Amino acid sequence: MTTDNNDISAKPIVYLVGAGPGDPDLITVRGSDLIRRAHVIIYDNLVSPRLLSLASPDAELIYVGKKAAHHSLPQEKINQLIINKAQPGRVVVRLKGGDPFVFGRGGEEALELSKAGIDFEIVPGITAGLSVPAYAGIPVTHRDFASELALITGHEDASRTGPEQIDWPALASWQGTLIFYMGVKNLPTISQKLQKHGMSPDTPAALIRWGTTPAQQTLTGTLSSLPDLAQQHQFTPPAIIVIGQVVPLRQHLQWFEKRPLFGRRIIVTRARAQASRFCEMLSGLGADVLEFPTIRIEPPAETQPLYDAVANLGGYDWVIFTSPNGVESFFDCLLETGSDARRFGSVNICSIGPSTAAQLSSYGLTADLIPDKFLSTAIVEALTSAEDLSGKRILLPRADIAPDDLPQALRNLGAHVDEITAYQTVIDDSPKDQIIEAIQQDSIDWITFTSSSTVRNFLSQIDLKILSGKKLRLASIGPQTSATIKQAQLNIDVQASEHTIPGLVNAILNFNPKT
Ligand code: SAH
Repeated sequence: MTTDNNDISAKPIVYLVGAGPGDPDLITVRGSDLIRRAHVIIYDNLVSPRLLSLASPDAELIYVGKKAAHHSLPQEKINQLIINKAQPGRVVVRLKGGDPFVFGRGGEEALELSKAGIDFEIVPGITAGLSVPAYAGIPVTHRDFASELALITGHEDASRTGPEQIDWPALASWQGTLIFYMGVKNLPTISQKLQKHGMSPDTPAALIRWGTTPAQQTLTGTLSSLPDLAQQHQFTPPAIIVIGQVVPLRQHLQWFEKRPLFGRRIIVTRARAQASRFCEMLSGLGADVLEFPTIRIEPPAETQPLYDAVANLGGYDWVIFTSPNGVESFFDCLLETGSDARRFGSVNICSIGPSTAAQLSSYGLTADLIPDKFLSTAIVEALTSAEDLSGKRILLPRADIAPDDLPQALRNLGAHVDEITAYQTVIDDSPKDQIIEAIQQDSIDWITFTSSSTVRNFLSQIDLKILSGKKLRLASIGPQTSATIKQAQLNIDVQASEHTIPGLVNAILNFNPKT
């Protein structure tokens, strides 16, 4: 958090913040701090929705960009809006794609604020002209190929009269790299003008759209061939044009588009609160991850049994935790009663799966037993090889909907099992229209399921018919989840051999449709 106290001073202040080129992680620390603190955010269409999700739930979010078929709010209206929103004690963020002062009309907005006597600060951003080529593997300068760099608008202001704004003869004899913003529509004109003024038609050139995002696409050719290529591939904005001898370096330096899941669109159906690691792993491998949270974790409807179990913890021989959520809810209750991990005393702890063990260790506890498989039979086997369970008291804090094969198997061996609802899962029915539309448009590659309840709740929120005839494939974390998928007459394309999130990611990575 920054230490300035402008937002509590009597004077209004506006922050013009660069959001970066598309990947939401490419914003500055200062920029993301201000988004979190903002009372009002006025944003454009190239700003990632993930950045807006950092904002406080009470923040007023005002969209002033261009929507398909609609024109953007005229610049004078945007200026007026910013001025009107600037009030003492309120943090107003004007969030703009890339850098606010590079072809972003940020200069005009700052001038208006200056005229109106309103204080402002500029938070630079990573501009698309430099970062988008970097993500396509094109260094914009290189000692052997380019010592000059020009950033040019490909969309000259038609309302201006007078001499031509762009010095085409100078650009045509440029010894370095030319970078055009907003140039897709004018690409044929740009190509012709540069050639007319003497630039070689064979000069290497590239067009990169939706750079730094999972939708990034790159076309490479020459100054003369690029316009036709763009038309053939129906390239639409936003895109950056790069012209110069640095372009062929892409053959060696391409990296972003080479990541193993690049371009794959993957739906994650986990509860939002648990999905982050899974989503991070998939997007780290290049996938475009769409969250379709099917369940939410909530405290149990009846909390007394959980409190009683915590109070009587010392009377048990074993506590078996079957999920990180179980650990979390159990400790919420334990800590709330003023107690801590010492209450476990000599009680043995069994942890199902490494993420449950990791959650336990965040409270300073090491599990005594971690069965090597995550199935009820393996758990019972591991416990019985540790000791005779006859007469032993076992506490099992779990979800309200957990299957009863585990407690039953333990009871069959003579153990006294207290099964306690530590948390409940409820359907997350937040709107999912965009994802459903993506499925209908057949743009999804994978749907991932990490439990039977994610399968059931996913299917309860979609019309099964939209899945038929689509290229999408289904990935399941393990046999129980797969059985639930099969019950719905759906085919499973991969099942993780290790029933964990990394196991599921590996299964998708290693998927080979021919085998
Ligand atoms: N202020 C912004 C530029 C705004 S002009 C900046 O500094 O980046 C809008 C133009 O930026 C688009 O027409 C396109 O040429 C370019 N642009 C922005 N984001 C882009 C992206 N992710 N991929 C390719 N071009 C992008």
